[in-house]
Order: sequence, then structure tokens, then C-alpha cells
Amino acid sequence: LREARIQKTKTVCTYCGVGCAFDVWTKGRKILKIEPRMEAPVNQISTCVKGKFGWDWVNSPDRILQPLIRRGDAFEPVSWDEALDYVARRLREIRLRDGDDALAFIASSKCTNEENYLMQKLARAVMHTNNIDNCSRYCQAPATEALRRTMGYGGDSGSIRDIEQADLVIIVGANTAESHPVLATRIRRAHKKRGQKLIVADLRRNDMARRADLHLHPRPGTDLVWLSAVTKYILDQGRADEAFIRQRVNGFDAYVASLEKFTLEYAEEVTGIPKDALIRAAEMVMDAKSVCICWAMGVTQQLGGADTSTAICNLLLITGNVGRPGTGAYPLRGHNNVQGAGDFGCAPAFFPGYERVADPAVREKWERAWGVSLPTNPGLDNHQMIDAIHDGRLKAMYLVGEDIAVVDSNANYVQAALEKLEFFVVQEVFFTKTAQYADVILPACPSLEKEGTFTNTERRIQRLYRALDPLGDTRPDWQVIQDLANRLGANWNYRSPQEIFEEACGITELMKGAAYAPLEGYGSLQWPVRADGTDTPLLYTDGFPLPDGKARLYPVDWTPTLALPPEYDIHLNNGRMLEHFHEGNLTYRVPGIRQKVPDAWVEISRELATERGIQDGDWVRVVSPYGAVKLRATVTDRVSGKEIYIPMNSVEAAVNLLTSSAADKDTHTPAFKDMKVRLEPV
Ligand code: SF4
Repeated sequence: LREARIQKTKTVCTYCGVGCAFDVWTKGRKILKIEPRMEAPVNQISTCVKGKFGWDWVNSPDRILQPLIRRGDAFEPVSWDEALDYVARRLREIRLRDGDDALAFIASSKCTNEENYLMQKLARAVMHTNNIDNCSRYCQAPATEALRRTMGYGGDSGSIRDIEQADLVIIVGANTAESHPVLATRIRRAHKKRGQKLIVADLRRNDMARRADLHLHPRPGTDLVWLSAVTKYILDQGRADEAFIRQRVNGFDAYVASLEKFTLEYAEEVTGIPKDALIRAAEMVMDAKSVCICWAMGVTQQLGGADTSTAICNLLLITGNVGRPGTGAYPLRGHNNVQGAGDFGCAPAFFPGYERVADPAVREKWERAWGVSLPTNPGLDNHQMIDAIHDGRLKAMYLVGEDIAVVDSNANYVQAALEKLEFFVVQEVFFTKTAQYADVILPACPSLEKEGTFTNTERRIQRLYRALDPLGDTRPDWQVIQDLANRLGANWNYRSPQEIFEEACGITELMKGAAYAPLEGYGSLQWPVRADGTDTPLLYTDGFPLPDGKARLYPVDWTPTLALPPEYDIHLNNGRMLEHFHEGNLTYRVPGIRQKVPDAWVEISRELATERGIQDGDWVRVVSPYGAVKLRATVTDRVSGKEIYIPMNSVEAAVNLLTSSAADKDTHTPAFKDMKVRLEPV
């Protein structure tokens, strides 16, 4: 019957953190169309190209349809029972021999909140380790840390509606038009129709930079310096929000003292941004009644990613641009559920709701709730796990939905680590580069084939419904995790994602009043959700969840970029593109998108192309101290001077074959954006 009828089912897009929701029309397994709806809280009538056309891969013949076990160099299809029995036996053996912390778990920010909750519960409550993380380690952990340091909550301080309502939007290190397209559309609309002002600070003249009232082009990795100089200039002009600071902020004197060196002259020297442009930026901030700052990987994927994110928060606090409509701090989450994976506890230091693992009272609460004793050892994050495999501490890994062999930095080093694992389980939709290293592959369902919730960049929890039956012998991740947990000694009996969600929210303070009923259809809730079910679109209207109810100005200093041998004379920038999702495992399997954008490229400035004799379309070899890739050159004015750009959507020519293992000093987020290369003819 399901084959015969046309159906429409509400789902939530899985391609970025904006969280667009829409109806997907299907007939059998055929996807007929995507229909945006006015009830959708974020996107109403619009989607971007991936959201509208990027779904045909769900029927790709490349889907993994059965569990697979490695036998020698080949994978053999087996039954679910055989695969899960084998995984449970091997994990038990290794744990018994080498201890709890010889195992590690990587959850997926493409999976639902419910699945992420179960992953961290499996790691902690069943296997007794805090070695659990997710891909926010690769992107937004520094922003989360900065928000927690200064304001208290690790999420965006308001809603996308606030960004739209602001007098001034500042975008730092983010290619919003391609990475968060529907949000960019809303900013463009406010800019055009309402005269909203826009400052973009970015190495590239991307679409938003071209439209901006002011485009700042700092030297790579120097955003903290210009942000601090602008803040100091505002203070020196006597234009800080004194009443806000007096009533709502701690740490003012120490912070002001820390700004002493950030003069306009110093900032011009370090960043290369002319003093006049810095003054203009400061004046635009001072003249605006409401300011929002959006940022992304250009800020966070640096050696000082958390500190630069903190400098953004400090600027907002000094100018009183927090806790009012049209103001706030907005790290733009990349994956659709990177916010939710952290919210539901997939981080080594935090239980769900960002409750600290190291706090004995918190740990006791979770022990009571789950009826187990919980580990006290600090867990490893994704970045530390790779080192721990190399030095022999980590023997086995269970990874869900993340192609870390491609998307983690220093891919050659990561791939060598995966090769060394004694036992590696990968739960995936396709046979990814990472899956090639697995001992067991468990076939998972994509979002259209399951139910649950996602949480978007503005802390908005939304439901997705099953539009298609699971293909072949695939299963939703939550069922697989539960089946494995029960083979490892648990006694879980979740019958639906709803039961998992209600258990998780019932224990956390952050989502105490969240339930499925208000999420029905296009309903949504933005955390914190109080016990009476009231949600919070705008944070900090009546105080900060920090001592005295006040925010905290947090002094930070600039961390210079990596020192590399002089032959590596060209800065390598990298990021997303509009048409493809991430490394491209999904969207390259959509024929229309693949035809339009068949591969990645390297953007080279006109001046560098002339200097090196490179023509548009030439093959070039890009070489770093860590690896080399071959790509076609695109000669363009989007980049300038000795700065090149490679989109991350290639497996064969993965940009992370070039990046290093250097990382943000506070959060271990890899410094993907801090690399120099040389160009060679092919
Ligand atoms: Fe999907 Fe993001 Fe595009 Fe919306 S903007 S349709 S969430 S990729």
C-alpha cells in the first residue's frame, strides 16, 4: 500500500544548522518534490538547492544494505545477530583486557537527539567510559566554550529572527551564502528592504562580503586583534553601554586592562586592516541600536579559536548587545544537529544539558537516574582519540555517521590511526573512506527513513517523521545502539524515539519541560525549556546563568599562527560550497548536483596566477608539510594575493590531506584554517 500512494511527510533538512523544515512528497521510494510550508519556523517558503534537490541519494545503489564483517581484505554480508554478537564480544574482550578507557565512541551530528543520547549512555552507563565525542569538536567547540565563559549557555543567544531584526549584522569568518543559505537570504532581505547594515570580515570576497557595507580583510588568523581593537576604540570613545556593564557584567576592570595593547596602530600592523576601516567598523557598532554577530569556522578553526570567539562575546557585552531583541552572539552551527549532539551529552566532559561529568553531585544524579555507577576518568575528545590510538592507549572504536578519515585534519595521520585500531565498528549509510578501515560495518538509515528530533543553530528542537521505509536490511541508529547495548549487559526497552527523548529531558535541567506533544507537526521548542513547557527564543533577558546572575568579561590574547618553513608561502583557506554537503558522500550521489558541480577545485587569485603562470582550468599540485593534492585551478577575484581556497567537498583530493594536527589550545578543535602550502605545476 505504501508503494501505491502519494504521501507527504514533514521532515527537517540535514544539510546545515539553519534547520529548514518542509514536506517531502513521495510515491513508494520515489521522491516527488520538496514543499516548504508557511508553518516552518525558520524557512517558511524557501529552501536552498541542497534542501530542494539533494535527496535522491537515499535510493542510490551504493547504499550499504546489510551488516558486513571483514574477512581478510573483503567484507562479507552477515545477519544483524551475527554482526551485533560479534561486535559485543570483541568490545567486551578488549574492555576486559585493556580497561574501560581502551574503548571510544564517536557520535554523529547528523543523527537525531535521541540517537546521540543513547550513544553517550552506551559509552558511560554500559561501557563505563567518558570517551565520547561528536563532530562539534571539528567546528564549534571553541564558540561553545566562549559562550559558556562569558554568558553561561553554550548556544546562540537569540533566534534567527533576531539576526533579521538587528540594525547591524557582523559576519566573521563565515561563508553564509553557501554554508547557511536560507539565513543568508533573510539577512539579504533585511539589508535590502529595511536598510540593515552589514559588516563582513573574511579572507574571501564571498557573496555576503560583496554585498556588505564594509568588508574587512584581515590577515589569516588575526580576527581577535581587530575585534579587540574595535572594542577598545569604543571604550576609549566613552561609547560603551555603561548601565548594562554596571548592572549585568562582572570583570570589567581586568578586561579593560587586558585591552591596553590593542591600539588601532597595533591592529593595523597585525591584521593589515587600515586604521580608517577599523574606525568605520567601530562607528557602525556605536551607531547601531542593535547588533548581532554571526561567526563560523574562519574564527573557530584556529589555534586561538575559543579566544577569538570570546573576543566577539566581549564586544557584544561591552556594547550591551545581549538579551534584547535584535542582538546577540550567533555561532552558526554547521551540521544539522551539531547543537543537539552536544545538548544530549556527546562530549567527554558533559552529560546531556551540559551538566559537568566532573561534578560529583551531577554524576550522582545521573547514576540515580540510570541505576548504574558512572566513570570518573576524564574522557578523550575526537582529537585526543587519534593520538591515543597512535600511542596504543585506545584499542577499539565505535563510530556512527562521521567520515573522520576525510573530515578530520591531517587526514594521513588519522588514516594511519584507523589502520592501527584493533577493532573498529562503523555505522554508516555509504561505504565511506572511514568505513574502508572498519572490521564491522552496520548499515544505518538516513533521516528520511526514521523519526526523532534535531536541534538547529538557534537551539530549536524540531521533529522529523519517517517518509520512507528503511531500505534493505538497514535500521535506524537508535535501534542498532539499543540492540548493541543490550548485548553488552544493558536492559533497555525503548519502543520509540519519543520514549528516549522524554527520559533525557526528564533528567536534564536544560530541557526539563520538553516533550513530543508541542513538537507535533511544525511545532518547535527552543531550550531552555522550563518545567511548565515554556521555551526561550531569546536568552539572558533576565540575567545570566553565572555567579550573581551577571555575564563575565573574559580577557583573551592573540595566538600567532603556525610557523612553517619559508617555502610554504601561500595561505590555504578551506570551507563548504553551496551545492555539496561536507565531504560530498551524499550529494555526489545526486545526479543533477554532481553534473553541475562534479568536483572540488583550488581558487587562485589573479595576481598569484600571473606570477606563477597558471591559467584558469590548469591542474596544479598543492603541497603542505603533511601531504599533497592535485586540483584544477579556478582563477578568481574571490581570493587575493597569496591566499588560496579549496572547498572541502572531495574525498580523493581532500583538503585535510594538507592540514595539520595543530589545534585550538582550549578545546582541541583542529586549526583547519591555519596552514601554508606551496604550488607546483603538474
Ligand atoms: Fe537545508 Fe540549510 Fe539549505 Fe535550509 S539552508 S535547506 S537547512 S541546507
